[in-house]
Amino acid sequence: MGHAVRNKLVFTIKDKCRVCYTCVRECPVKAIKINNGQAEVISERCIGCGNCVKVCSQGAKVFLDSKSEVGTLLSSEKKVIACVAPSFPAEFSDIKDYQILVGMIKRLGFNKVVEVAFGADLIASEYRQMIDSDDKKPYISSDCPSIVYYIEHYHPNLVQNLAPIASPMVAVTRVIRKEYGDVKVVFIGPCIAKKAESDEVDEGITFKELRELFQLNQIKPEDVIASDFDPPRSGKGAVFPVDRGLIQAIDKNDDLTDGRILTASGKDNFKEIISEFESGEIDCKYMELLCCKGCIMGPGMTNKNQRYLKRNLISSYVQQKMDNFDQEEWQANIDKFSDLDLSQSFNPSDRRELIPSSESVNKVLVSMGKKKPSDFLNCGACGYNTCKEHAIAIVQGHAETEMCLPFAIEKLHKSIEDLNISNGNLEDARIALKQSEKLANMGQLSAGIAHELNNPLGVITMYSNILKEETTKDNPMYHDLELIVDQTERCKKIVGGLLNFARKNQVKKIETNLENFVIRSTESIVIPQNVKLKVEVDLKDPIIMIDQDQMMQVLTNLEKNAIEAMPDGGMLTVKVDDTESNFKIHIQDTGVGIPKENMDKLFTPFFTTKKLGKGTGLGLPLVYGIVKMHKGQINVISNTDIDKGVTGTTFIIDVPKF
Ligand code: ADP
Ligand code: MG
Repeated sequence: MGHAVRNKLVFTIKDKCRVCYTCVRECPVKAIKINNGQAEVISERCIGCGNCVKVCSQGAKVFLDSKSEVGTLLSSEKKVIACVAPSFPAEFSDIKDYQILVGMIKRLGFNKVVEVAFGADLIASEYRQMIDSDDKKPYISSDCPSIVYYIEHYHPNLVQNLAPIASPMVAVTRVIRKEYGDVKVVFIGPCIAKKAESDEVDEGITFKELRELFQLNQIKPEDVIASDFDPPRSGKGAVFPVDRGLIQAIDKNDDLTDGRILTASGKDNFKEIISEFESGEIDCKYMELLCCKGCIMGPGMTNKNQRYLKRNLISSYVQQKMDNFDQEEWQANIDKFSDLDLSQSFNPSDRRELIPSSESVNKVLVSMGKKKPSDFLNCGACGYNTCKEHAIAIVQGHAETEMCLPFAIEKLHKSIEDLNISNGNLEDARIALKQSEKLANMGQLSAGIAHELNNPLGVITMYSNILKEETTKDNPMYHDLELIVDQTERCKKIVGGLLNFARKNQVKKIETNLENFVIRSTESIVIPQNVKLKVEVDLKDPIIMIDQDQMMQVLTNLEKNAIEAMPDGGMLTVKVDDTESNFKIHIQDTGVGIPKENMDKLFTPFFTTKKLGKGTGLGLPLVYGIVKMHKGQINVISNTDIDKGVTGTTFIIDVPKF
């Protein structure tokens, strides 16, 4: 125990940590590191205040357990004496009489149970002398070990201002050793930091651990004999555990009109007063500082709340005590130990970290999207008061950028957006896949049928032609034979279309001048008199790579469809333009347009609205397949409603140039 456990006071149970950063926020010395989304205690930085233990709702922060060490002492040959901190009435309010508590502690095997408050009585007079002396030097109380660690590590220049007086625990331990000789001393109190305060004390447990020991040993209040504290009994030192308790014990006060005595308790207050004092902003004779808001709020208490109820419990205990106070006996004891050495020395042990360069801090800030003043929300969600403090901790390796809530929310929004986009892409891909699957199936079927039909069709064509040639025109059979020949030709055309469509396409891209190519496509179709053709070319660079045969089929099919949609004439516009990477061809007509209900059937094989013998419904599926093979897109815009403007359809293909 003692200094040996200095760096083992508090640790994290990683599995329980839900990374809420509350411990980071509450730690007065930022001794909590977030590493891969897990909080861990940086033991060299920790001052054992136990704030993190108090605030962690998940029980992920725990303190050093000394029950088994105490058990070993109790089962040894040595006499073991318990010294109980004066905050006990605030913890054991469930035990009606303090003498029962003393009895229970004795039942655990302790030979004597002494009040730490007597140590407080002794040092109170030391403090009184110090404050009343002519010495101009300002002093800081040294009875709270966390405050002492804080000053030793983070304000080493102020170590010389720590009151060179032992704490009540150490004072009473010296009393016990003088009174009872060679014994082991165990401190029982509300404090974690006390476990590491002094090598003079053998072990230290918290009230929480004491309760656990009672439970382990099945010690119940009703089973024990009441017993008073062993001498020497305390006086007003029993008020120590509330904030401003020490100055009350020495009949002083932090009167505003005086200003010589300042008090501060709680993690923000003590830091503020120390920094103001160090910078020379405040001037005083004595500062009474406590890390918790009174020892009654210590992390070793089982009830972490109800500060005022606890104050009341202490007051009524002290009142009851003072009612039965034997002043003479007390004074005799004080006199008896008046020559006891109550001095204490402290050593600076600087653990401050270097402040990183502003460039490295700025770099981190920028990486969290904090560039202009309005980006610095200083919301505190990360556990640090300001964005800058957070960035410094990141550079020091104690924190992570992910801890910034606004940054994380923004990232999340971005991910949701990306997810929506990829969902959309996925849906498009799914539809395209379905279409190509359908086409592939149709293709296989068509190829099979076409292949089988081709031969018999050839035979029919040949024989019907022979018969037709052998028949004179005035023969009544001639007209019928002519019909057979015509219809067989039509069948061959359909079969040819099918074979075309089903062909296992391979794209053979060659360098092509797009402008010439488009013009050639319009020249290879028959344009009726009543249809006007307009070709508009706006190209940055006309050179593209395409499979010319296939792309020619695309253009001529679309152009033919456009012409067929304008039986009463109109305008066919072929527009070509490009970007760096893609070219676009618009084939626009002023025809009848495509009704909404037909829009999603356009690319289905055999879908046609044309008269029997006119359409095969294989043009657009072929176009679609070829455009896809070129990794392009095809879109249709159409209007059938004259009230909404000129009717007609535009097919737009958008294909990568290379
Ligand atoms: P087909 O031309 O043999 O009918 P397509 O696959 O080329 O087969 O076209 C399918 C159908 O799509 C056509 O029958 C027609 O209803 C419609 N269509 C295609 N292009 C146009 C267009 N430019 N204007 C109006 N309807 C069109
Ligand atoms: Mg067609």
